Amino acid sequence: MKILVIDDNPSHRKAAYQTLGHEHELTVVGSHDEAVELVREKPCDREKLLRLKAEAEAAGYGWCGEVWAKAMEECKLPYWDAVLSDLLMPAGRKTQGGNGLQYVGTEMPIGWALAIDAALEGAKFVAVVTDMDHHSHPASAMLDRMDRGVFPVAGAKALFTNHVKRVGITGTEGPCRECGGTGKCRRANDSTYDCYTCHATGVDYAEKGKDWKDILNRLTSGEQEE
Ligand SMILES: [Zn+2]
Repeated sequence: MKILVIDDNPSHRKAAYQTLGHEHELTVVGSHDEAVELVREKPCDREKLLRLKAEAEAAGYGWCGEVWAKAMEECKLPYWDAVLSDLLMPAGRKTQGGNGLQYVGTEMPIGWALAIDAALEGAKFVAVVTDMDHHSHPASAMLDRMDRGVFPVAGAKALFTNHVKRVGITGTEGPCRECGGTGKCRRANDSTYDCYTCHATGVDYAEKGKDWKDILNRLTSGEQEE
């Protein structure tokens, strides 16, 4: 699949490469401006377009109106299959001028807009994913009522969620600090209980990110969240 992941947190971007990078054609961006550009862009085979332009000119057709529209249609590349976005990000400057510039850099819930925009443009799967607890931010709490599985938005399958699994970033692993690397719960009187932090592996990660693969699986399987 051709996938766009949008997140301003570097750990979540690393997690995107780690969870989706091997199996998919993945693009990852960290700013609102880049995201807007990529969501709205009509992907086009530029080399082919230039070739058609040269051919049209050589044949004496000129390069406007019908000829141009036909060439653009021929050079169209597939749009994103999936656009997966963070919820809260600093607002970009691209769409602003005048008084609006005062809001550039302010965190806002832009994920909604990007996901709906992508659905309208033809993405098959869109998601808005925040790891922020609903008590920590009103924008996260807004997702509570629609966090009930996959539903249709403008022809796309959509998932808006504030529940996301986390994956450890490779290279930041070390002995689990909760259990000291034993994999067993310290609080229990006997050691029959597994450590809940490392799930009995004895290994924990200093850096973690969103499990984007799990998000994609939830979208494509269309299953309700447990
Ligand atoms: Zn542990």
